[in-house]
Amino acid sequence: MSKVHNLGFPRIGRERQLKQALETYWRKDMTLAALEETASGLRQQHWRWQQDAGLDLIPVGDFAFYDQVLNISALVGNIPARFQWQGGEVDLDTYFAMARGTHAAHAMEMTKWFDTNYHYIVPEFSEDTRFALSSERLFQEVTEALALGVAVKPVLLGPVSYLFLGKSKSATLDRLSLLPALLQVYQQVLGRLAEQGVTWVQIDEPVLTLDLPAAWLDAFDVAYQSLGQGSLKLLLATYFGDVSAHLPLLGRLPVAGVHIDAVRAPSQLAAFDAAWPADRVLSVGIVDGRNIWRSDLRQKLNQIKPLSHRGDQLWLAPSCSLLHVPVDLDVEDKLDAELKSWLAFARQKLDEVATLGLALKAGEDAVTDALLASSAAAASRQCSPRIHNPAVSARLAAVTEKDATRSVPFAERIALQHAVLHLPAFPTTTIGSFPQTQDIRAARASFKRGELTEAGYLAAMKTAIKVAVHKQEELGLDVLVHGEAERNDMVEYFGEQLAGYAFTRNGWVQSYGSRCVKPPVIYGDVSRPTPMTVSWTQFAQGLTKKPMKGMLTGPITMLQWSFVRDDQPRSTTADQIALALRDEVCDLEAAGIKVIQIDEPAIREGLPLKQADWKAYLDWAVRSFRLSASGVRPETQIHTHMCYSEFNDILDSIAAMDADVITIETSRSDMELLEAFADFKYPNDIGPGVYDIHSPRVPSTDDMVRLLQKACAVIPKERLWVNPDCGLKTRGWAETEAALKHMVAAARQLRQATGVNAA
Ligand code: GLN
Ligand code: ZN
Repeated sequence: MSKVHNLGFPRIGRERQLKQALETYWRKDMTLAALEETASGLRQQHWRWQQDAGLDLIPVGDFAFYDQVLNISALVGNIPARFQWQGGEVDLDTYFAMARGTHAAHAMEMTKWFDTNYHYIVPEFSEDTRFALSSERLFQEVTEALALGVAVKPVLLGPVSYLFLGKSKSATLDRLSLLPALLQVYQQVLGRLAEQGVTWVQIDEPVLTLDLPAAWLDAFDVAYQSLGQGSLKLLLATYFGDVSAHLPLLGRLPVAGVHIDAVRAPSQLAAFDAAWPADRVLSVGIVDGRNIWRSDLRQKLNQIKPLSHRGDQLWLAPSCSLLHVPVDLDVEDKLDAELKSWLAFARQKLDEVATLGLALKAGEDAVTDALLASSAAAASRQCSPRIHNPAVSARLAAVTEKDATRSVPFAERIALQHAVLHLPAFPTTTIGSFPQTQDIRAARASFKRGELTEAGYLAAMKTAIKVAVHKQEELGLDVLVHGEAERNDMVEYFGEQLAGYAFTRNGWVQSYGSRCVKPPVIYGDVSRPTPMTVSWTQFAQGLTKKPMKGMLTGPITMLQWSFVRDDQPRSTTADQIALALRDEVCDLEAAGIKVIQIDEPAIREGLPLKQADWKAYLDWAVRSFRLSASGVRPETQIHTHMCYSEFNDILDSIAAMDADVITIETSRSDMELLEAFADFKYPNDIGPGVYDIHSPRVPSTDDMVRLLQKACAVIPKERLWVNPDCGLKTRGWAETEAALKHMVAAARQLRQATGVNAA
């Protein structure tokens, strides 16, 4: 029988119950038994929903108390020595210690899961790594599901992906040398699952969508020749990209089926149809598991119909695990009906898959109503005046290269800027936000609840701004900021003021562990009805004679941390946001603001998974940034800020952004990044972060002088700025003031030592 199935369901719960339970347990206000009970309740609820949707196979093992990769580390007993695990079953507290650290042992590293905003716990490998089956959880969950009559399909991250996504802790270790030992445990796991009466197991090998070195590709032969011998049927699942280049490899492996992502890489459908054996399952990921748009089912049907000759061997599923979308659209009671009719969250996506499956099995007549409703929604999305704003498209069409280029080159601009700004050498500044104090958060909460009036709220924010400005003057900083008190979040704050954006009430998606985010939805042409930050910045500038830096979130970061419309290229949406920001930049300039920062911390996150696609992305991303920044006079200074990613391999693009000043994270890597900037001969001004704001530690003046001296060795002194790594909103005022005092002192020491006093 042809089957409809699912690759994974979000585990946080529709009301984020898992988050609440985890945090209560971590605070020691909940027992382990109660936490387990909450988790079990959530799993059962999620299985029931998937049964109700009519799925033929339902994932089990997709649940995780923290992360699915960490689950595998527990399953195979890969616990770093510092957690002092003694063998046996990995208990939940050891598991949480690995994710979150303890007093005695620092947490394992966390990194982004492919190009999603989900973060996984990076497995650690060393010469001492040994594997042993060390967790019963997967088998217990299978038992739990079987008892409920769930059509169980266990899900496991595959051994090659597990090794590839981990990190060697010793320079000499070849992670692949660990494969044979790891496979022994996987074999045991599969054996146990077979004993439980399971037929199909889904093994995820998403690394197949990356640029894999040959040795790693060869490892697939080794791995699956060994795992494919048992009685279980293996469905090798890939997602997030095209794997058609690996068709010969996949065809050789003794797996009963493959899953491919037909949303991100629709062209591979034809390739697989041509070459994938007809007697093996081809599971087509047909509904977008990464975005929240409702499918046009008619169009999806047309996409899969050519493969219907495959009969029972054609399966349908979402493109990837639904971990990346919110749980249930039904609870969105504040969205208006039209907008809501364009959306589908996890539960609705499963209904779509089931409808498509039914259409294949029983004919389109069996699903007439669903097809009609879906077509109506697609039509309304195509022609709704709320989506299309002719003024926006006309303006975008008229954009030329000149609009995306500053009127004079950096060397001339910086001279003009110096004449206006009168800054000392090694000018000091901060990244934008100052501590979001209890008072600030209480005022915002009370305003949202309707208890505090708008006037009352504005007054409270102005007080916070005054405090921040006065403290900065006392500290002797050179370029001030207003502190971002009025901003809850750097993307949401702007999204709420732009046309084309919508916000859900409960559209939460797991970011890591108990941490969830609620990305805004960009559904239509973006424009800026009125200025967004001008009055705040003007107010702040009025409090000081020092230059006040305007503070904006850049177009790529706005895009990267939202759900983006899928009916036009991402680059078009980025340019629309860029034009809206450009107006804001120009309005700030007109209001007398001389320095404007456009943050792009997420620019690297947008990089495509395959290097061959990098250039195209970087080209439009950089141009979009420049479009937002290039409307001002040469004497207006544009800053940008980036943090917490690798930048070495995209330096030419960072330079091409042509910001007058970039402030960038470097302190955690002890300024190593700067050497790359120096080798590359980064042309503009640069402020390498001189202290790590993610730690409460107050660095000494000497610490910062030492870092600055390192910077001076590789970057011309006239181009160096002095600033922290990132915004200070998560810190308290006491440590912030202490650290900034040392930072200003460090800059002064440097001015003296170098004899350079003016910029
Ligand atoms: N201006 C922002 C802040 O200071 C930048 C945040 C970030 O880099 N993520 O908070
Ligand atoms: Zn930052």
